[in-house]
Order: sequence, then C-alpha cells, then structure tokens
Amino acid sequence: MKYSKNILETIGNTPLVKLNKVVKDIDALVLAKVETFNPGNSAKDRMAVKLIEDAEAKGLLKPGGTIIEGTSGNTGMGLALAAIVKGYKLICVISDKQSKEKMDILRAVGSEVVVCPTNVEPEDPRSYYSVSKRLATETPNSWYVNQYDNPSNALAHYEQTGPEIWEQTEGKITHFVVGVGTGGTISGIGKYLKEKNPAIKIWGIDTYGSVFKKYHETGIFDENEIYPYITEGIGEDILPKNVDFSVINGFTKVTDKDGAVYTRKLAKEEGIFCGNSAGSAVKGLLQLKKHFSKDDVVVVLFHDHGSRYVGKMYNDDWMRERGFLEEEKMIAIDLIQD
Ligand code: PMP
Repeated sequence: MKYSKNILETIGNTPLVKLNKVVKDIDALVLAKVETFNPGNSAKDRMAVKLIEDAEAKGLLKPGGTIIEGTSGNTGMGLALAAIVKGYKLICVISDKQSKEKMDILRAVGSEVVVCPTNVEPEDPRSYYSVSKRLATETPNSWYVNQYDNPSNALAHYEQTGPEIWEQTEGKITHFVVGVGTGGTISGIGKYLKEKNPAIKIWGIDTYGSVFKKYHETGIFDENEIYPYITEGIGEDILPKNVDFSVINGFTKVTDKDGAVYTRKLAKEEGIFCGNSAGSAVKGLLQLKKHFSKDDVVVVLFHDHGSRYVGKMYNDDWMRERGFLEEEKMIAIDLIQD
C-alpha cells in the first residue's frame, strides 16, 4: 500500500506549471511553482515544519508546549497542521488587515487567534510583533517562532524548494521571481540556486508601502516608504533577518490594484486559483520583461491559494469599491484588440 503516515508527509514536491496567456508578451519560457498544492495550501507548510523540528532539536519546544507566532495566516496554517500531528497548542497573532477567511481557517484547525491593529508602529505595544512577543513571555512552556528572524525559515527553502526547482528545470532555470515578506522563500531558494549556478538572477517582488526595494538600491531604511497597503504576505515595514539581500539581484514594486487584477487574470486565463501575492509576482515579472530573452527559463513562485481571498479580489464589489474593476475591463479590451 502507498500512503503517507500523516499529513505532514505530503508537504513539498509541488508541480511546476507553464504559464501561457498571462505571459504572452514574454519570449522566455515562464514556469510557475504552484505551492498551493501543499496540504495547508501554501509554501509556508515547508518552513513551519522545519521551524518546529529545529526548535525541538534545540530543546526550545518541549512536549505539550504552546507555539506562539505573529502570522499573516499561511504560516499559522502550516504551524497548525504540524501542531496537530506533533501534539502542541498554537496561538496565532494576526493583524486586522488579513482576510476573515484566513482567521476562520486558523480557528478551524484548532488555533487560538488573537487579532491586532495593522496601522500601528511595530514598536507599539498593540502591534502584532509586540503582542506575540509579550504572549510568549507570559505563557508557560511556550516557544515564540519568530519567522522573520529565525534562520530555519530560509533553510527550509534552501533544503527543499530550491533543490526541487533545480531538478524540475533540469538546471536550466535562468531567473527566479518571487514575492518577499519575511524573505525566507527568496533567500533560501536564491542561495541554493546561486550556489548551483551564480549566473541565475533572483528578483524580489515588493509592494508600494514597503521598504525593501529602496533599501536594496540605496542601503537606506527610508521611513517615507512605509504606508498602509492592501496586498497580503509581501512587503514589510521592518528588515527581517531572513532577507538575504546579497542573493537578490533586484526588486520591482507592484501596486495593490495591479496585484489584484493579475490575481484574477491568473484564475480566469490559466485556471490557477491563487492568492494575491501570485498576481503581484506575475505583474512584477511582466514589469521585468526587458531582462528576459527567448532561451531563458523563468520560474515564478505562487505562495498561496485563492480560497483565502474570495471575499477580497475575487469579489466584484470589493474590486469596484476600490476602483480596481475598471482596470480589469481595460485590460480585457486590450486583449480583444490584440
Ligand atoms: N505571499 C504570501 C501569500 C505570504 O503569506 C508570504 C509570507 N509572508 C509571502 C508571499 C512571502 O514569503 P516570505 O515570507 O518567505 O518572504
């Protein structure tokens, strides 16, 4: 009989799928690493298990312990699956801009969810960074994951996702494009790929309202770059230790509107039902068009599943209220004229 001993054994080995219509303007072969095939429907399952196993090995997480994390939802889902299988309690501290679906899903898999305001400084005692740290000091036998600074995050992608992409492309990958939040995905995969072939270019997708692009280009942490935005999972108002700027060739910023419009295009034109950061990654890739030529193999990573966004960019009223729907119609007209 062929079966997995538990749900955690099904993590990884996600498919690489050719993109067709959405990247018709690009000469290169564009392949999407669709991480929604993981059991928790996101790339974060990989690092959640790695973080827990490394903490167990170091004696930081003990039997019957409580795992505490500030998470935009996907890490929480991965941690929840691992906590169930391994017998831990889980508290997820989440900011109120995250979708209601994400919060409901976390509760469904047994996590306690603490909601904090988004638009406060990271140092503010109400921020989800501060609240998660405080809960970790107050809760007995608890372990604070800290995916931003915990090296096991990037290591999971160095050990798993990087090698998968290298093998799936038979070493032919020339560019890797991915949204950046904690930096674990880009840094782990980027390091692995550059060790295999230093000529591979690693591009990060950033959002307007985030510090990464400016910091990478100037070395300046510019607070003027920080303002509220809608896109979930990518961009930051801090510099997480997991962002290894040395493996990143450049960043491009994508607007909330473009991210939303391209997320919907992915679903409608490719049948790939992904979250908001996948749309941002595809739009960013199109913005980088001049960097790609005919024989290139460009891999873009899609972090999470569309089901978490049915009340957001997949909802016409939500799009209309933000003036995003007109943009979509204009793109549709462009396509017809082509
Ligand atoms: N997209 C989504 C939907 C995410 O949840 C995350 C994680 N914050 C990212 C992209 C970015 O991944 P990373 O944290 O590894 O940089």
